Order: sequence, then C-alpha cells, then structure tokens
Amino acid sequence: MNPGRPILVAISVVVIGILGFSFYQASRKLPEENYSQFLKDIKTGNLTETSIKGNKVIATDLNGDQYITFSPDLSSLMPLLHDSEVTIRTHPVAVFIPLLRDMLIILLLLGGWLILSRSSSTSSKRFLRTGFYGPASKVKTGVTFNDVAGISEARDELKEIIDFLKYPARYSRLGGQIPKGVLLEGPPGTGKTLLAKAIAGEASVPFFSMGGSDFVEMFAGLGASRVRKLFEEAKKQAPCIIFIDEIDAIGGKRSSDYRNGSNDEREQTLNALLVEMDGFESNETIIVVAATNRSDILDSALLRPGRFDRRITLTLPDIRGRLKILMVHTAATALSGTVDLTTVARAIPGFSGAEIANLVNEAALLAARKGKQRIEQVDFEEAQDKIIMGLERKTMVIDQDARRLTAYHEAGHTALAKLLPEADPLHKTTIIPRGGSLGLTQQMPIDEHYAYTRSYLINRIKILLGGRLAEELVFGRVTTGASNDLLGSTQIAYRLVCEFGMSANLGPIACTGWVAEETVGGGGKFWQQSQQTLREIDLEILRIVQHGYESARELLKEHNEFLHMLAESLLAHETLDGEEVDIVYRCYLNHLRVKEKHVETGD
Ligand code: ADP
Ligand code: ZN
Repeated sequence: MNPGRPILVAISVVVIGILGFSFYQASRKLPEENYSQFLKDIKTGNLTETSIKGNKVIATDLNGDQYITFSPDLSSLMPLLHDSEVTIRTHPVAVFIPLLRDMLIILLLLGGWLILSRSSSTSSKRFLRTGFYGPASKVKTGVTFNDVAGISEARDELKEIIDFLKYPARYSRLGGQIPKGVLLEGPPGTGKTLLAKAIAGEASVPFFSMGGSDFVEMFAGLGASRVRKLFEEAKKQAPCIIFIDEIDAIGGKRSSDYRNGSNDEREQTLNALLVEMDGFESNETIIVVAATNRSDILDSALLRPGRFDRRITLTLPDIRGRLKILMVHTAATALSGTVDLTTVARAIPGFSGAEIANLVNEAALLAARKGKQRIEQVDFEEAQDKIIMGLERKTMVIDQDARRLTAYHEAGHTALAKLLPEADPLHKTTIIPRGGSLGLTQQMPIDEHYAYTRSYLINRIKILLGGRLAEELVFGRVTTGASNDLLGSTQIAYRLVCEFGMSANLGPIACTGWVAEETVGGGGKFWQQSQQTLREIDLEILRIVQHGYESARELLKEHNEFLHMLAESLLAHETLDGEEVDIVYRCYLNHLRVKEKHVETGD
C-alpha cells in the first residue's frame, strides 16, 4: 500500500466532517433584526432569553420566536440585560470550528510533509537516500576506481581506507584507531560523490548518503534527529560508508550566518554529527566521507583529530586527466574511428569531470539525432560549443593569446624557482583556469615555525615577481594578472624590514609598532616612528623590491631559453609537476652544453 494512503483518508474524513457541519449551521438560518429593535425588546420586556456567542446574539421572545442581531458593544449590553428579566446564555466563542480548522491545517502539513519525505527518500536525491523509515537496505554502489579517472594521487590514501573497511580487525588489533572521517574537497563536478561511491564499491560495503543542505531547510531539531537515525541504521550495517555531501551547509563556521537556514538548526545538526562521530565504538567500522568545495569555511571542530582528519583534494583535471575521463565515459559509446580523444581533451580546458560526462552525452545525442551509427569528431565539437555557450564561463573560452601569456607568466615563476638557490621544491605549475585566476604555480607558504634566511626571503620575492617579469620580457606589456604576486612580494619585503630586522640600513629593528599583550604587558603601540624613520622604512621596502626585480630580470634574460621551454611545455601539457619541471630543466642544461661545444668548435 502506498504509505501516504491512510493520511489521505484521514484528511478527507476531516474535510467532509467540517464541510457538513458548516452546511448544517448555515441551513438553520434565523431572521435578522436590527440592534435598536433588540434594545427596544429588552426594555419592553418582550424577550425571555438571549443567547450570546461572540457578538452574535440570538433573542427569543415571549412567543418563542427567535431572531438574530449583532451587538456592536457587549460591555454596554450586559448591564442592560442584567437589569431586565431576560435569561442570558453564553457560549464558548466558536472554539470548536477554529480548533478543528487548526487541526486540519496541521494534519495537512504533516501529511504533506510525510508524503513528500517518503517519496523523496526513494526517488529524489534530496533527503536521505536509504529510506530510514523502514530498515535500511544495503545499497551497493557498484562503482569502482575504474569509473573514476585521474585520482592516482589520492589512490594510496584511499587504498588504506578501503583496507580499514575490509579488514578492520587487522588494524585495531594493536590498538590503532581506525580513521573516522575523510574530507573530500574540490570544485563542483570533480567527482567527489563518485569517489565516495567508489570507496564503498571497492570495499564492497553499503553506502549511506545525505546532503548537508537538506537538513538546514527543515524544521528545527529535525536535522539532528535525522543524523542520529542515519547513524543508527549505519551501525547495523557496519562496516559501511556514510557520505555527507555539501558538509559546509551544516559545518560552516558557527559565527557566520550567511545562509538562510537557521543557525540554531545548523548548530544542532552539527553537534549531533560530532557526537555521533565521537561515539563510534572501535568495533563499528563506519567511515564518514564528507564533500565540500568550501573547506575554508568549515568549523575547526570538524577537522580535529578523530573527526575529518584525512583530507583528499580533487582538482579540475589537466589535459591527461581529461583524456582519461573521456575514455571512461566513451567506453560504452559507439565511437567512429575518426574521433581523436586527445584533440577533444585539448579543446576543453577548465572542464570538470561532470562537464566532460555531459559533453560525451551531448555528443551522443547529437549524433543520434542526425541518424548516425557512430559518434564523430564533429559531434564532439558541436556539443562542446553548445556547452560552452550554455555555461557562459569566461575562463573557458580564453583565447590563445591569453593562454600564451598565462603560460609565460607561470613559466616565469617556475624558471626562477628552479634557477635560484635555496628555493622550495616546486609542487606544480598549471595554466588550467580556476576560480578567478588563470594559472597557478604552487610554492610552500612562509611558515612561522621555520627560521628563514634573508637570502631565502629575497629569492621568494624574486620568484613572485617572475610572472610579471616574463610578461614584460616576452610580450613587452604587463597585465593585471600579477596583482596577487605583487601583494605577496611587497608583504615579504615589509616583513623583512619591519618584522625580521633584516634591512641593512635600519638594522635589527622591529618596527611593526604593535606588540601582542603577552610580550610587553598591556599591548599596543610601543614605538611611534618619526617621519624620518617612516621614510627610511618606505625606501628600504622599495629598494628591496626594486632590486629583486632588477636582478631577477637579469637572471631570466640570461636563461630565456629555459623560460621558452617551460612555457611551451605548459602550453602543451597545461600542468607540470615538480618532476616534469626537472625534466625540462635537464633538457635545458643539455641544450646549453651542446651549444657551448658548438661555440668551442667554432660552429
Ligand atoms: P561532485 O560530487 O564533486 O560535485 P560528482 O561526483 O557528482 O561531482 O560528479 C558528477 C559526475 O561527473 C559523475 O557522476 C561522473 O559521471 C562525472 N565525473 C566527475 N569526475 C569524474 C572522474 N574523475 N572520472 C570520471 N567521471 C567523473
Ligand atoms: Zn603569478
């Protein structure tokens, strides 16, 4: 039987009852008399009884006839009636009908919500997808790592988690704590949900899933109760995976109330989640996998050890990743022999996994519409135009000029990071657009807990300026793309002078002016610099930056072939990791050696 049926029946009965009652009321209509006649009747002693209900008065005269009148002011009527011989009957002011009406409304709301949440629990992806009103069914995802392309970096970490799920005893035997929470972070459509499902699939354990935002929109306290129910079900099925999508909806920093959902509700839900996660027994192997594209706003309570302490970052795929994803999604489609997936991959920088899946689907539909037996290259091209236009995402349609400029900008950073001594090893450099930036060269942030030398900091300034320098050297014009770099390099120069006392002219002096309370007692400004000193500080910062810029320019000029090689590699591959940059560097050194030989032999 449809679960909503009994409620519907109950609602119909109530509706019919109320309609019938009002109909009965309306059918025995009494004649109406004006109020002055009524007052006259009281005075003349013509009435035996008045029945008062709200401002409605039913008067019964000596003959037993009745009429209705409406009193404008009961307080003045009552003394009159008291003075007369008339019997006064009062009624509770129409309590019954409004009560029934309220009950009906509540019933309707409740019924509607029940029906909604029930059908949603099975069909829609909102709400809990395992149907916790009945016993939770084992949801086998059937997704494996083969369905997720380009996750090689995360694979080892994931392998360990799968082992935990498969052989919990092996790990807990020595008293080790099995991890409870894994945070998947990355832009939308990069396969976080898919990956969570693949973890469950690989470990062949049940998969429970819910969306963070579903909780916030609901009635107070319901989110927390849903969390508890979810874990209750999951415990019965352990080992298993609980997947929480958009965890930032409930786990955003507690002070920020930028979302429309009530903060209290969010906090209750978050607390329920934390309590559940802290409360696992060691024999219950439940791994909570949460996804977010805003890990920066997560409450720190969520990230503490024993909670979501494992993090896996998913990024937009580079050209190789896109090719792999294309291969996964075209595996089951009929491709014409003319299709070159590498060309397709090259043409869609900035596409996420989800957009690539969509591209393949669109291409297949287009080909089918034209009555083709196989998907051809042109179908991909058409599908791509359609999607790009639909998305109107500017970063996707960067023209070739902008792409070259970005490649040289990033190559500038990278070349200096490779050429300068003491530089941190490069993590990676990319020209895949993301967020507001066109490219990125990743270096380690300055860590307060390390002691850095002056030359290290100066080199960092040079590396940051490398992007702007390369633009200037190669294209003879500069762009706004370097604004963040300039902020970073100027900040380092400021700290070098004012915080680290490393300026030759000012000496070992701290001049930030503000000191924390614990250092000097009281806190606040301890040194009001004279105009002259301030000027000296300014000059020193300017000198450091300008000098860095000049000497970095000389270095880049000297090694401009390296710069070109890096930029070309970036244009071809979009992303280079540290090892690949090393390969380019070795090629460059070889090239130099060969050139030197030619010079020696006079070629
Ligand atoms: P997210 O949860 O990060 O928003 P999803 O996991 O929902 O992204 O991805 C949506 C769809 O995009 C997936 O079902 C899959 O078809 C496709 N997709 C995304 N990333 C990948 C990937 N790395 N490999 C294969 N398919 C992917
Ligand atoms: Zn830059």
